[in-house]
Amino acid sequence: MTGSNEFGLPREGLPAEEVFERMEAARADDVDWRDGRVGLYVHSGGDDVLAVAREAYSRFFSENALGPTAFPSLARFERDVIAWTGDLLRAEHPAGNITSGGTESILLAMKSIRDWARAAGRGGDRPEVLAPYSAHPAFSKAADLLGMQVTRTPLGSGYAADVGAMDAAVTPRTVAIVGSAPGFPHGIVDPLPEIALVAGRHSLWMHVDGCVGGFILPFAERAQYPVTPFDFRLDAVRSISADLHKYGFAAKGASTIVYRDAESHAYQPYHFDQWPRGHYTAPTIAGTRPGGAVAAAWAVMRYLGVDGYVRIAKTIYAARDAMMAGIRSHPELQILGEPQGPIVTFAAPDLDIFAVAEALTDRGWFVTRGAEPPCIHLGMLTALHVPVVDRYLDDLDAAMAEVRDGRRARDTGPVTYGG
Ligand SMILES: *Cc1c(COP(=O)(O)O)cnc(C)c1O
Repeated sequence: MTGSNEFGLPREGLPAEEVFERMEAARADDVDWRDGRVGLYVHSGGDDVLAVAREAYSRFFSENALGPTAFPSLARFERDVIAWTGDLLRAEHPAGNITSGGTESILLAMKSIRDWARAAGRGGDRPEVLAPYSAHPAFSKAADLLGMQVTRTPLGSGYAADVGAMDAAVTPRTVAIVGSAPGFPHGIVDPLPEIALVAGRHSLWMHVDGCVGGFILPFAERAQYPVTPFDFRLDAVRSISADLHKYGFAAKGASTIVYRDAESHAYQPYHFDQWPRGHYTAPTIAGTRPGGAVAAAWAVMRYLGVDGYVRIAKTIYAARDAMMAGIRSHPELQILGEPQGPIVTFAAPDLDIFAVAEALTDRGWFVTRGAEPPCIHLGMLTALHVPVVDRYLDDLDAAMAEVRDGRRARDTGPVTYGG
C-alpha cells in the first residue's frame, strides 16, 4: 500500500499557490546568496546574465539533449559551446561535450584515459593517475568507480604541485598526470608547463582541471593579469575540464570536457547493443540530459562574448585585489601562496584563524574554512562580492581585534565541503 502513512505522497494534490508557499517557507533558513555574503556554491555574472540564462533555460525546459536527431538545436548549441571553449583554451581542433558538472567532466576524462591506456596495452589492471594532493576529490571518486588508482603527490612551495615529486612517483602503471588551474583548496595554479614536461618525458596523458579557471583565466590573461600557461598551448595536454556553471555564468548542471582532438574524445562515449532496442550510444554519463542547461550555456556565452567575460573578469579581479590588500594590512594574516585566479585563502600562523571565522560568521558572513593549513577560504569571488568588499574588510578588522584581544574562545569546528 502506498499513500497510507504520513511519509507517503499524499493522495490529494495541492493548489500550485500553496505548493509554492510551502517551498518559500522551506527555504527560510537557506543562506541569502544575493547579498554577496556567501563565497561558495552560487555564481553570478550579474542580474542581466542571470536573466538570459533563466530565459534560455525555460525556453528549452522540456527538450532532451540525449536526442540530437530530434533536437538539432541542442546539438548545435553543444557543438558551438565546445568549439568556443576549445578556442578559448587554444585547441585547434577541439572535441568534447557539455556535461552536468565538473565532477562528470573529470569522470569522463578519467574514462577516456583508462580506455586509451587499455587500447595501448598500458597501465595493467589498475591504471594509475598522478595528481597533486590538492586535486579535486572528483579524480579519486572517478578512479574508485572506474577501477583506476589516483596517487596523490605532495605539494611543494606556495601550495603548488611539487613537480620533482610527481616525476619521481611515475611507475610502469602510470598512464596520466593531472594539474589544476587553479586547485580548489588554496586557489593555486600548479606549475603546469613543468608538469607537461614530465608528461612528455613519460608519454603520459595530461589532464588540466580548469573547472574553476577554464572560464576566467583566459579572460584574466586578456586583461593583462599574469597567468601560467595552463591550456592546450602545452603540447602534453590532451583534456581540460572547465565549468560553465562556475565562471561561465551558465545555469547549474553545465560543465565542459574538452579534448585536444577527436581522436582523444573517441575514448569517451559508451556503446552498447546487447538488448532488444538496438544500438545505444551515450556520449556522457547521463542518459537524459537537460536541454535547458545546454541552451542556457549557449545563450550566456553568446550574450557575453569575449568582451563581456573580460569586463566581468576585470571587476572580479579588482575585488580580489582589494580583498588581498585588506588582508595584507593585518600583519598577523598570511595569504597562502600566490593566487592567479579568483580563489584566495588566508591563515594566521600565530592566531586562531577559526576564531576569526566565527567572529565573521557572527557578523553575518557565510565563512568557509580550509583544513591544511587551517585557513579562511574566500570561496570563489564573483560579481556578487564586488559591492561587499569594503564591508567584509571592516568586519575582518573587527573580527581580528576581538581575536587579538582574547575576546574569542578557541574554535575547533570541523572543516567541510559539500555533504
Ligand atoms: C568545483 C570543482 C570541481 C567539481 O565541479 P562540480 O561542478 O562541483 O562537480 C572540480 N575541480 C575544481 C578545481 C573545482 O573547484
